[in-house]
Amino acid sequence: MNKKLFFIIPCMSVIISYAQDTTKYLSSEPPENKKMKHEETEYYSPVPPVVTPGDHFGNAPSDAIILFDGANLDQWRSVNDTTKPAGWTVADGIFTVNKKTGNIETKQRFTDYQLHIEWRIPENITGKDQARGNSGVFLASSGTGDAGYELQVLDCYNNQTYVDGQTGSIYKQSVPLANACKKPGEWQAYDIVWTAPRFNNDGTVKSPARVTAFHNGVLIQNNFKLKGQTLYIGHPYYKSHGASPIKLQAHGDPSEPISYRNIWIRPL
Ligand code: MG
Repeated sequence: MNKKLFFIIPCMSVIISYAQDTTKYLSSEPPENKKMKHEETEYYSPVPPVVTPGDHFGNAPSDAIILFDGANLDQWRSVNDTTKPAGWTVADGIFTVNKKTGNIETKQRFTDYQLHIEWRIPENITGKDQARGNSGVFLASSGTGDAGYELQVLDCYNNQTYVDGQTGSIYKQSVPLANACKKPGEWQAYDIVWTAPRFNNDGTVKSPARVTAFHNGVLIQNNFKLKGQTLYIGHPYYKSHGASPIKLQAHGDPSEPISYRNIWIRPL
């Protein structure tokens, strides 16, 4: 065989196998979901390694849209009643979840973007497992409640839960590559690159959503292809949608509410 072919053929096969995505992306709810329990999509191993992050935070670049600069929540609204303002509490340059008023979302809709968002678990946080500072960043909201794709926010500094639901997981789909949690009381950051899913005219998936995310500067999601929207019970599947708001979760757990600050976005 020609020497060049010895080189080219293996390279081509690597490229072809890399390009092939054999995952099935469902465009309707699988029938087994009706009989499933929430425990069936919760995994406890392998546990991501604990990594101590550096002191890294990002100030907004010149072309970013500022979603919260410390003054007000004018860029946000209530999810339960989109005609109403976001009912969370702004004070001292930060805002805090109000569990009674429910989730909030951006007034603007986005498709592909780079997002920076900072959050803080209260120093006096109580509770355990999923009931310890639970909130979440829905990278695209598709309706009320938890409809959308959730990047989990939770205190996992010293708190065990199912690994596909811990801090930095794509909830019940992708375990984070590391646990980069800071102590409760310290500010933390997510830096996220989101590529929205694309759909064919008949509602089937043309290309799945993809996410890359850093937690306090540590890579936790590396171009992960989502299997569908977040589900508490059952296997994820897609529902066709276009540009969407970004949503923050007012989780119903009884622990002390968490806070957010310094949120900016660069549409791509
Ligand atoms: Mg959550």
